[in-house]
Amino acid sequence: MKVHFLDVGQGLSILVQSGGQTMIYDGGDKSTSSFVVSYLQKQNVTTIDYLISSHYDSDHMAGLIGCLSAFDVKNVISSDYEHDSKLYQSFIQAVADQGLTMQHPAVGTEFSFGTGSFQILAPATIDPDDSNKNSVAIKLTNGENSFIFTGDAESTSEAAMCASGIDLSCDVLVPGHHGSATATSWDFLQATVPEYAVISCGKDNQYGHPAKDVMDKLESMDIQVYRTDEQGTIVAVSDGTTITWNQEPCNDYTPGEKEDQGTQTQKAETENSSSSGTNTGKSGKSSSKSKAADASAGSSIQITATPQVTEAPQDTSSTSNEEMVWITATGSKYHNKNNCGRTDPSKASEISRSEAESRGYEPCKKCFG
Ligand SMILES: [Zn+2]
Ligand SMILES: [Zn+2]
Repeated sequence: MKVHFLDVGQGLSILVQSGGQTMIYDGGDKSTSSFVVSYLQKQNVTTIDYLISSHYDSDHMAGLIGCLSAFDVKNVISSDYEHDSKLYQSFIQAVADQGLTMQHPAVGTEFSFGTGSFQILAPATIDPDDSNKNSVAIKLTNGENSFIFTGDAESTSEAAMCASGIDLSCDVLVPGHHGSATATSWDFLQATVPEYAVISCGKDNQYGHPAKDVMDKLESMDIQVYRTDEQGTIVAVSDGTTITWNQEPCNDYTPGEKEDQGTQTQKAETENSSSSGTNTGKSGKSSSKSKAADASAGSSIQITATPQVTEAPQDTSSTSNEEMVWITATGSKYHNKNNCGRTDPSKASEISRSEAESRGYEPCKKCFG
C-alpha cells in the first residue's frame, strides 16, 4: 500500500494505491488542482475507487472537482451537510455528471480497499455552521500498519472518536486542520499514539500552521515529523508490517509562526479539568464523555507532559498579587479579558503581565488603550 501526501501548499490531498485500487482523500485547493491531476496521471491512475471529501472547504475540495472530471470515479464519500459556496455547487454537479450519489457512511462503517481496509471514524454529528467539525475522518489499515486522516476535524470531533470505542492506535497520523491548535488534543494523541505525524500545510501560511501547541505535544511524545511545507510530497509504503518512506523525517518542531508561544502548560490544566467533568455544556453525553476520558491514560500523559513545559510559568502562583493578563496561541498582544475582540476564551491563557511583557507580548489597544 502506497500513501502519497501531496504537497498542495496550504491544503490537504492524500493519494493511496493498494492492490490495484485507488483512493484520494481530499484534493487540495484550486491553485494546485492541475498538479494533483497530473500527479495521479503520472502514477498511472485511471480509476479512482474511493474519492473522499473530508469537508467542503476549498483547500480540501477544489482539487477533487478536477479529479472527478479527469478520472473514472466509482464511489464518492463525503460529509452530510451543505456548504454555501459556488465551489460546493460545482462539486455536487461534478459528482452528478459521473452518475454518482454522495455516500455519507456512519461512524464505524468499514470498506475493504486493496490489500487492506478503511473505517469511518467521524463525523459522529453534524454542525451545519462549522465546516471543519464535519470532517470525514478515516483509519486506513494494511496488515499491521495503519494511518489516520481527519481532515480539518477539531478537538470536539476527536473526543467523539475517542468515545466511539474504535481502536484509534495507528502508525501515521495526519494532525487535523494542518496542525492547528484547534486539533490534536492530548486525549486524541494518547489514543492514537502514532510513530509518525505528517503535517500538510503551506510554507509561511497566513494561519501560522502548524501551531506551537501541537508541535510541542508531538515533540514531547517523540513522534517523528514529516512536513509538506518543508519536504514537498512525501510517500510512505506499507508492506503490512513495515512502513518505508521516500525520505527521512525532518523532525522540525518549530511552529508556522515564529511568535507563537503556545499555551501548553495552561492547556494541560484546562483539558484536565474538562475531562474531570466540568465541561458538561455540550449535550447530555456525559456517560460517553467519561468513557472517552476512561483514559486514566489521558491524564497520565498530561502528568508526564507537564514537567517538560514547566520552566517559566512555575512561579506565577507565588506572585499572586501581580496583575494578570490573557494571551492567545497565535496573537502578539495581551488582553485584560479572555474574550477581547475575536479572542476565543477557550484558547486564551492567563499569565502575569510582567511575564507577558518579558515574552514580547504588547498590550492590546482595545483593552489597555
Ligand atoms: Zn483545511
Ligand atoms: Zn476547513
